[in-house]
Amino acid sequence: MKYALVTGGSRGIGRAVCLQLSKMGYAVIINYARNESAALVTKQMTENQNGVAELLPFDVSSPAAIEEALEQWQNNHPNDYIEVLVNNAGVRQDTMLIFMQDEQWHNVLDTSLNGFFYVTRRLLKNMLTHRYGRIINIVSLSGIKGLPGQVNYSAAKAALIGATKALAQEVAPRKVTVNAVAPGFIATDMTKDLDEVTLKKMIPTGRFGEPEEVADLVGFLASDQAAYITGEVISINGGLYT
Ligand code: NAP
Repeated sequence: MKYALVTGGSRGIGRAVCLQLSKMGYAVIINYARNESAALVTKQMTENQNGVAELLPFDVSSPAAIEEALEQWQNNHPNDYIEVLVNNAGVRQDTMLIFMQDEQWHNVLDTSLNGFFYVTRRLLKNMLTHRYGRIINIVSLSGIKGLPGQVNYSAAKAALIGATKALAQEVAPRKVTVNAVAPGFIATDMTKDLDEVTLKKMIPTGRFGEPEEVADLVGFLASDQAAYITGEVISINGGLYT
Protein backbone atom coordinates (compact mmCIF):
# COMPACT_ATOMS: atom_id res chain seq x y z
CA MET A 1 0.00 0.00 0.00
CA LYS A 2 1.18 3.56 -0.74
CA TYR A 3 0.05 6.12 1.84
CA ALA A 4 -0.88 9.79 1.58
CA LEU A 5 -1.72 12.05 4.53
CA VAL A 6 -4.00 15.02 3.93
CA THR A 7 -4.26 17.45 6.84
CA GLY A 8 -7.72 18.97 7.04
CA GLY A 9 -9.08 16.14 4.89
CA SER A 10 -12.54 16.22 6.42
CA ARG A 11 -13.99 19.02 4.30
CA GLY A 12 -13.54 21.32 1.32
CA ILE A 13 -10.31 21.18 -0.64
CA GLY A 14 -8.85 18.51 1.67
CA ARG A 15 -11.76 16.16 1.02
CA ALA A 16 -11.42 16.58 -2.76
CA VAL A 17 -7.67 15.93 -2.47
CA CYS A 18 -8.33 12.71 -0.52
CA LEU A 19 -10.66 11.49 -3.27
CA GLN A 20 -8.17 12.40 -6.02
CA LEU A 21 -5.20 10.71 -4.31
CA SER A 22 -7.34 7.66 -3.70
CA LYS A 23 -8.13 7.47 -7.42
CA MET A 24 -4.36 7.50 -8.00
CA GLY A 25 -3.99 4.38 -5.86
CA TYR A 26 -3.10 5.89 -2.51
CA ALA A 27 -4.51 4.72 0.79
CA VAL A 28 -5.52 8.06 2.28
CA ILE A 29 -5.06 9.13 5.86
CA ILE A 30 -7.71 11.72 6.63
CA ASN A 31 -6.63 14.19 9.28
CA TYR A 32 -9.02 16.67 10.87
CA ALA A 33 -9.26 18.73 14.05
CA ARG A 34 -12.83 18.41 15.38
CA ASN A 35 -15.33 17.49 12.71
CA GLU A 36 -15.44 13.70 12.87
CA SER A 37 -18.78 13.43 11.07
CA ALA A 38 -17.38 15.29 8.04
CA ALA A 39 -14.22 13.14 8.13
CA LEU A 40 -16.40 10.01 8.13
CA VAL A 41 -18.19 11.32 5.03
CA THR A 42 -14.80 11.72 3.29
CA LYS A 43 -13.91 8.17 4.31
CA GLN A 44 -17.21 6.82 3.01
CA MET A 45 -16.85 8.72 -0.28
CA THR A 46 -13.34 7.28 -0.69
CA GLU A 47 -14.60 3.76 -0.05
CA ASN A 48 -17.49 4.32 -2.47
CA GLN A 49 -14.91 4.71 -5.22
CA ASN A 50 -13.19 1.51 -4.04
CA GLY A 51 -10.46 3.35 -2.18
CA VAL A 52 -8.87 2.74 1.21
CA ALA A 53 -9.07 5.43 3.90
CA GLU A 54 -8.50 5.83 7.60
CA LEU A 55 -9.07 8.70 10.02
CA LEU A 56 -6.22 10.27 11.96
CA PRO A 57 -7.45 13.21 14.02
CA PHE A 58 -4.96 15.63 15.52
CA ASP A 59 -4.51 19.36 15.85
CA VAL A 60 -1.75 20.34 13.41
CA SER A 61 -0.71 23.15 15.73
CA SER A 62 0.05 20.75 18.59
CA PRO A 63 3.45 19.03 18.34
CA ALA A 64 2.53 16.59 21.13
CA ALA A 65 -0.73 15.56 19.44
CA ILE A 66 1.05 15.11 16.10
CA GLU A 67 3.79 13.01 17.64
CA GLU A 68 1.30 10.78 19.43
CA ALA A 69 -0.93 10.23 16.41
CA LEU A 70 1.86 9.61 13.91
CA GLU A 71 3.79 7.38 16.31
CA GLN A 72 0.68 5.27 16.73
CA TRP A 73 0.09 5.18 12.97
CA GLN A 74 3.67 4.02 12.42
CA ASN A 75 3.35 1.32 15.07
CA ASN A 76 0.24 0.06 13.30
CA HIS A 77 2.02 0.13 9.93
CA PRO A 78 5.59 -0.96 10.76
CA ASN A 79 6.58 -1.63 7.14
CA ASP A 80 4.96 1.40 5.55
CA TYR A 81 5.70 5.07 5.21
CA ILE A 82 3.73 8.12 4.19
CA GLU A 83 5.09 9.16 0.81
CA VAL A 84 2.67 11.99 0.01
CA LEU A 85 1.92 14.78 2.48
CA VAL A 86 -0.58 17.50 1.67
CA ASN A 87 -0.38 20.31 4.24
CA ASN A 88 -3.88 21.62 3.70
CA ALA A 89 -5.31 22.40 7.16
CA GLY A 90 -5.91 26.10 7.51
CA VAL A 91 -8.18 28.67 9.13
CA ARG A 92 -9.17 32.27 8.40
CA GLN A 93 -9.76 34.79 11.16
CA ASP A 94 -10.11 38.04 9.25
CA THR A 95 -10.02 41.50 10.75
CA MET A 96 -8.07 44.70 10.16
CA LEU A 97 -4.69 44.61 11.88
CA ILE A 98 -5.60 47.51 14.10
CA PHE A 99 -8.35 45.38 15.67
CA MET A 100 -6.52 42.05 15.57
CA GLN A 101 -6.25 40.15 18.86
CA ASP A 102 -3.20 38.08 19.77
CA GLU A 103 -5.32 34.96 19.50
CA GLN A 104 -6.40 35.73 15.93
CA TRP A 105 -2.80 36.22 14.91
CA HIS A 106 -1.55 33.07 16.63
CA ASN A 107 -4.42 30.76 15.62
CA VAL A 108 -3.88 31.46 11.93
CA LEU A 109 -0.08 31.17 12.02
CA ASP A 110 -0.17 28.13 14.31
CA THR A 111 -2.40 26.22 11.91
CA SER A 112 -0.99 27.04 8.48
CA LEU A 113 2.65 27.69 9.25
CA ASN A 114 3.51 25.85 12.45
CA GLY A 115 1.31 22.95 11.33
CA PHE A 116 3.42 22.62 8.20
CA PHE A 117 6.61 22.62 10.29
CA TYR A 118 5.57 20.03 12.85
CA VAL A 119 3.93 17.55 10.49
CA THR A 120 6.52 17.83 7.72
CA ARG A 121 9.47 17.47 10.08
CA ARG A 122 7.91 14.32 11.51
CA LEU A 123 7.39 12.65 8.11
CA LEU A 124 10.41 13.89 6.18
CA LYS A 125 12.95 11.41 7.53
CA ASN A 126 11.12 8.42 6.07
CA MET A 127 10.73 10.15 2.70
CA LEU A 128 14.47 10.88 2.62
CA THR A 129 15.36 7.33 3.65
CA HIS A 130 13.12 5.86 0.97
CA ARG A 131 14.38 8.40 -1.57
CA TYR A 132 10.88 9.33 -2.64
CA GLY A 133 8.36 11.84 -1.38
CA ARG A 134 5.89 14.50 -2.36
CA ILE A 135 5.05 17.46 -0.13
CA ILE A 136 2.34 19.83 -1.31
CA ASN A 137 1.50 22.91 0.72
CA ILE A 138 -1.83 24.64 0.19
CA VAL A 139 -1.11 28.35 0.36
CA SER A 140 -3.23 31.17 -1.07
CA LEU A 141 -3.45 34.12 -3.41
CA SER A 142 -3.46 36.06 -0.15
CA GLY A 143 0.10 34.91 0.54
CA ILE A 144 1.27 36.14 -2.88
CA LYS A 145 -0.37 39.54 -3.15
CA GLY A 146 -1.62 40.19 0.39
CA LEU A 147 -5.28 40.92 1.06
CA PRO A 148 -6.59 43.62 3.41
CA GLY A 149 -8.24 42.18 6.51
CA GLN A 150 -5.97 39.14 6.26
CA VAL A 151 -2.61 40.31 7.56
CA ASN A 152 -2.39 37.18 9.73
CA TYR A 153 -3.45 34.82 6.91
CA SER A 154 -1.30 36.58 4.27
CA ALA A 155 1.70 36.39 6.61
CA ALA A 156 1.15 32.69 7.31
CA LYS A 157 0.77 31.76 3.65
CA ALA A 158 3.66 33.96 2.48
CA ALA A 159 5.90 32.34 5.10
CA LEU A 160 4.78 28.93 3.92
CA ILE A 161 5.76 29.88 0.37
CA GLY A 162 9.26 30.77 1.61
CA ALA A 163 9.46 27.50 3.52
CA THR A 164 8.38 25.58 0.41
CA LYS A 165 11.17 27.09 -1.69
CA ALA A 166 13.84 26.53 0.97
CA LEU A 167 12.87 22.95 1.83
CA ALA A 168 12.62 22.04 -1.86
CA GLN A 169 16.32 22.80 -2.23
CA GLU A 170 17.26 20.84 0.90
CA VAL A 171 15.58 17.62 -0.16
CA ALA A 172 15.71 17.58 -3.97
CA PRO A 173 18.80 15.32 -4.10
CA ARG A 174 16.75 12.62 -2.34
CA LYS A 175 13.92 12.80 -4.90
CA VAL A 176 11.54 14.50 -2.53
CA THR A 177 9.68 17.41 -4.16
CA VAL A 178 8.08 20.29 -2.29
CA ASN A 179 5.58 22.57 -3.99
CA ALA A 180 2.86 25.02 -3.09
CA VAL A 181 -0.59 25.42 -4.61
CA ALA A 182 -2.11 28.89 -4.30
CA PRO A 183 -5.88 28.93 -4.78
CA GLY A 184 -7.93 32.08 -5.29
CA PHE A 185 -11.60 31.85 -4.25
CA ILE A 186 -12.75 28.22 -3.98
CA ALA A 187 -16.30 27.25 -3.00
CA THR A 188 -15.91 25.66 0.46
CA ASP A 189 -17.01 26.30 4.04
CA MET A 190 -14.11 28.74 4.32
CA THR A 191 -15.62 31.07 1.72
CA LYS A 192 -19.33 30.55 2.35
CA ASP A 193 -19.66 33.78 4.38
CA LEU A 194 -18.16 35.89 1.56
CA ASP A 195 -20.20 37.99 -0.88
CA GLU A 196 -19.81 35.66 -3.86
CA VAL A 197 -21.94 37.76 -6.25
CA THR A 198 -19.70 40.82 -5.80
CA LEU A 199 -16.42 38.92 -5.63
CA LYS A 200 -16.97 36.89 -8.76
CA LYS A 201 -17.27 40.08 -10.81
CA MET A 202 -13.52 40.56 -10.09
CA ILE A 203 -12.61 37.08 -11.28
CA PRO A 204 -11.90 36.87 -15.04
CA THR A 205 -13.52 33.42 -15.31
CA GLY A 206 -16.58 34.83 -13.50
CA ARG A 207 -16.90 32.14 -10.85
CA PHE A 208 -15.40 30.62 -7.73
CA GLY A 209 -13.26 27.52 -8.29
CA GLU A 210 -14.32 24.04 -7.22
CA PRO A 211 -12.35 21.97 -4.68
CA GLU A 212 -11.98 19.23 -7.32
CA GLU A 213 -10.13 21.63 -9.61
CA VAL A 214 -7.56 22.25 -6.88
CA ALA A 215 -7.40 18.53 -6.17
CA ASP A 216 -6.54 17.74 -9.80
CA LEU A 217 -3.54 20.06 -9.58
CA VAL A 218 -2.45 18.58 -6.26
CA GLY A 219 -2.81 15.11 -7.78
CA PHE A 220 -0.52 16.05 -10.66
CA LEU A 221 2.12 17.44 -8.28
CA ALA A 222 1.88 14.21 -6.28
CA SER A 223 2.42 12.07 -9.37
CA ASP A 224 5.60 10.60 -10.85
CA GLN A 225 5.21 12.90 -13.86
CA ALA A 226 5.88 15.93 -11.65
CA ALA A 227 9.33 14.72 -10.53
CA TYR A 228 11.11 17.73 -12.09
CA ILE A 229 8.79 20.35 -10.56
CA THR A 230 9.96 21.49 -7.15
CA GLY A 231 10.04 24.71 -5.16
CA GLU A 232 7.20 26.09 -7.27
CA VAL A 233 4.10 28.03 -6.30
CA ILE A 234 1.31 27.25 -8.73
CA SER A 235 -1.70 29.56 -8.75
CA ILE A 236 -5.22 28.34 -9.41
CA ASN A 237 -7.47 31.37 -9.30
CA GLY A 238 -9.48 31.82 -12.49
CA GLY A 239 -7.15 34.56 -13.72
CA LEU A 240 -7.66 36.75 -10.66
CA TYR A 241 -3.97 37.38 -10.26
CA THR A 242 -0.92 36.78 -12.40
P1 NAP B 1 -12.44 24.44 5.09
O1 NAP B 1 -13.52 23.97 4.20
O2 NAP B 1 -12.73 25.47 6.12
O3 NAP B 1 -11.75 23.17 5.77
C1 NAP B 1 -10.68 23.37 6.66
C2 NAP B 1 -10.09 22.03 7.01
O4 NAP B 1 -8.94 22.25 7.86
C3 NAP B 1 -11.05 21.15 7.78
O5 NAP B 1 -10.81 19.82 7.38
C4 NAP B 1 -10.60 21.36 9.23
O6 NAP B 1 -10.90 20.26 10.08
C5 NAP B 1 -9.10 21.47 9.04
N1 NAP B 1 -8.43 22.13 10.15
C6 NAP B 1 -8.58 23.41 10.59
N2 NAP B 1 -7.77 23.64 11.64
C7 NAP B 1 -7.11 22.48 11.88
C8 NAP B 1 -6.15 22.06 12.84
N3 NAP B 1 -5.70 22.91 13.78
N4 NAP B 1 -5.70 20.78 12.79
C9 NAP B 1 -6.16 19.91 11.85
N5 NAP B 1 -7.06 20.26 10.91
C10 NAP B 1 -7.53 21.52 10.93
O7 NAP B 1 -11.23 25.07 4.24
P2 NAP B 1 -10.84 24.94 2.68
O8 NAP B 1 -11.43 26.08 1.98
O9 NAP B 1 -11.02 23.56 2.20
O10 NAP B 1 -9.28 25.29 2.81
C11 NAP B 1 -8.27 24.30 2.75
C12 NAP B 1 -6.93 25.01 2.61
O11 NAP B 1 -6.95 25.80 1.42
C13 NAP B 1 -6.59 25.97 3.75
O12 NAP B 1 -5.22 25.91 4.04
C14 NAP B 1 -6.95 27.32 3.18
O13 NAP B 1 -6.21 28.35 3.78
C15 NAP B 1 -6.58 27.12 1.72
N6 NAP B 1 -7.24 28.04 0.80
C16 NAP B 1 -8.59 28.02 0.65
C17 NAP B 1 -9.19 28.91 -0.23
C18 NAP B 1 -10.67 28.95 -0.47
O14 NAP B 1 -11.11 29.87 -1.19
N7 NAP B 1 -11.45 28.05 0.06
C19 NAP B 1 -8.39 29.80 -0.94
C20 NAP B 1 -7.02 29.79 -0.76
C21 NAP B 1 -6.45 28.89 0.10
P3 NAP B 1 -12.34 20.16 10.86
O15 NAP B 1 -13.32 19.69 9.82
O16 NAP B 1 -12.10 19.17 11.93
O17 NAP B 1 -12.66 21.52 11.36
